[in-house]
Amino acid sequence: MRKVVKFGGSSLASAEQFVKAGDIIRADGERRFVVPSAPGKRFPKDEKVTDMLYACYHLAEEGKDFQKELGAIASRYQEIIDGLALSISLDKEFEAMEKNFREKAGENYAASRGEYLNGIVMAAYLGFAFVDAGEVIRFTDKGEFDSELTNQLLGEKLKTMENAVIPGFYGAYGDGRVKTFSRGGSDITGSIVARAVKADVYENWTDVSGFLVADPKIIENPEGIDTITYRELRELSYMGASVLHEDAIFPVRREGIPINIRNTNKPQDEGTWIVESTCQKSKYTITGIAGKKGFCSVNIEKAMMNMEIGFGRKVLQAFEDSGISFEHVPSGIDTMTVFVHQDEFMDKEQKVVSAIHRLADPDGIDIEGDLALVAVVGRGMKSTRGTAGRIFSALAHANVNVKMIDQGSSELNIIIGVADEDFETAIKAIYDIFVVSQL
Ligand code: ASP
Repeated sequence: MRKVVKFGGSSLASAEQFVKAGDIIRADGERRFVVPSAPGKRFPKDEKVTDMLYACYHLAEEGKDFQKELGAIASRYQEIIDGLALSISLDKEFEAMEKNFREKAGENYAASRGEYLNGIVMAAYLGFAFVDAGEVIRFTDKGEFDSELTNQLLGEKLKTMENAVIPGFYGAYGDGRVKTFSRGGSDITGSIVARAVKADVYENWTDVSGFLVADPKIIENPEGIDTITYRELRELSYMGASVLHEDAIFPVRREGIPINIRNTNKPQDEGTWIVESTCQKSKYTITGIAGKKGFCSVNIEKAMMNMEIGFGRKVLQAFEDSGISFEHVPSGIDTMTVFVHQDEFMDKEQKVVSAIHRLADPDGIDIEGDLALVAVVGRGMKSTRGTAGRIFSALAHANVNVKMIDQGSSELNIIIGVADEDFETAIKAIYDIFVVSQL
């Protein structure tokens, strides 16, 4: 067995957290490849080292003095080094950083140092080899992640290594310039490493015991999810459930490697398993509920629309021409509704309306804002009768008016449009009917 373990920022924010991570790694000899994030927050009002690096670099870029800020970053690492009683020094690294900041090596380079330095500390603490992600994780000249070249380089490098620490969040172009993934990207690195070493499992250690059925800001103490499929997770994370970076499933998905989300502060918890497919039933008919506010619906009417070939294409063309992506397009006989993000749409609204008139010649257009979308996701819905019925009767009892219904043909999810102000009530009603009433 071979396991890749990724530790998030809060799991490595202090020497105390490092010790917890070290204990977890040492407890299982199969945990051979470690991907660390940069130190995160030690307490709620604390700053993440990545944010400190961005701020410090911006000062350097504007030609301002950044000594104090760089010194504060160095102290974060020194505190960890001292707390772990290590004898390493990062002085040379900080000298190089100072010089590179002055020479304007770029924001990506600056941000990547958070993981780079934490990787050096982690490797020293564990007695593992250190592999600079800049040497093995590649981006194309266009700035896209080069999955195949990376897989080859990384696979070759790690093949003969008993264990290694590979910092998360960054890689480099062919010419050596550093490039980072988007924020939270160490999750992606963990997945890339898991694929390259053909790991049996990718353990992602964070500060929660996995995914929850619903957002704890809306539902008090929600139940956890034991097992979720990649596809279900995709639906939920798209709709706002954020524990894992959205793109982190792709590398492991290709190889069918499961991801296990675990809690560094509660290592005894099993966490959530993210798998390709499973015959395990979810505890409840639904696996999870998520949602987002801030949508707008553009309702287009035209008599005999259903007979007119190309009508939908012309309408969507109007959105495309303004660079607006759409979320859902439910349609009726003489109506078609396009759901878009309100903030993206607002400034371009009249331009889109006139383009629809010009291209598709509708009878009328009606726009409604402040809408929320709620996604009820679950592989169990496919084989269960009455799921939709239960959802809508729960919403009716909670006095929530349903403005839109969209069930994908995969029967994996049902998306419901409600007014923004009904968002929380809708989620509570659905949670109650599927989870609370089953407990
Ligand atoms: N340190 C980076 C961030 O704060 C990447 C990560 O933690 O995954 O976004």
